[in-house]
Amino acid sequence: MDEFQPDIMYLSTTDYIQHKHAPGTPVANDFYTMLDRYLAQLDARGAVIALTADHGMKSKFAEDGQPDVIYLQDVLDDWLGAGKARVILPITDPYVVHHGALGSFATAYLPEEHREDIIDRLKSLEGIEKSLSRKEGCAEFELPEDRTGDVILVSSTHKVLGTSVSKHDLSALKEPLRSHGGISEQRVPLLCTKPAHGVDDGRRLRNFDIFDMALNFAQ
Ligand SMILES: [Zn+2]
Repeated sequence: MDEFQPDIMYLSTTDYIQHKHAPGTPVANDFYTMLDRYLAQLDARGAVIALTADHGMKSKFAEDGQPDVIYLQDVLDDWLGAGKARVILPITDPYVVHHGALGSFATAYLPEEHREDIIDRLKSLEGIEKSLSRKEGCAEFELPEDRTGDVILVSSTHKVLGTSVSKHDLSALKEPLRSHGGISEQRVPLLCTKPAHGVDDGRRLRNFDIFDMALNFAQ
C-alpha cells in the first residue's frame, strides 16, 4: 500500500492454524492478534477490507483423542465384497499434516444391483448425516453429476469419513483432529470494515458475494 495502491487485491492463507488450534486457545489467539495487526495497517492506509472463509472447522475426534472415523471403503467391502464399491474423498492430497485426508464429505461408486438399498443402509449408519443419491445430492449441494459417485455422504459434526484404515497415514497428526467438509462447517463469517448499505434484506449472502459487497456496497 505504501509503494502502490491496487484497485483490488485478493489475499489468502492456508487453514493450518485452524486445523491445529481451536478458537480461544493461545496459538489461535496469537495468530488472530497478528492478523488483526496487519489488517489495521491496511485499514490505516485507506483500504476497504472484506473477509470471509471457504469453510468452517470442527473438532473431529472421540473421547480417546483419536480421530472419529467411519472407514467407508471397509464398510462397503464388508457389505458387498472387496472392491465392488469405490469410495472417493475430496481431500486426497499426500500432504496429510493438516487432516490426514479425513473430512466430512465423501462420494462412492456403487454396483447397480441394490444401489438404493445400500444408500438407505448407509443413511442408518451412526454418524452419517446425509446419504443421498447422485441426483438428490448434486441438487442439494450444487455439484456436477458427471463427476460425482452414485451416493453422496456427509458425516455429522464430530465425525469424519475415510476410505480404508490402511490408506490413511495418521502418523503426522500430532494434535487431535480438526477438519471440515460437512454441513456443520457450512456457516462462515462475512465481514467488512465499511457498512454495506442497500443490500436486499432477503438476500442470502454466500462467501463469493464478498466481491459484490466490497466493490458495490461497502462505503
Ligand atoms: Zn483444511
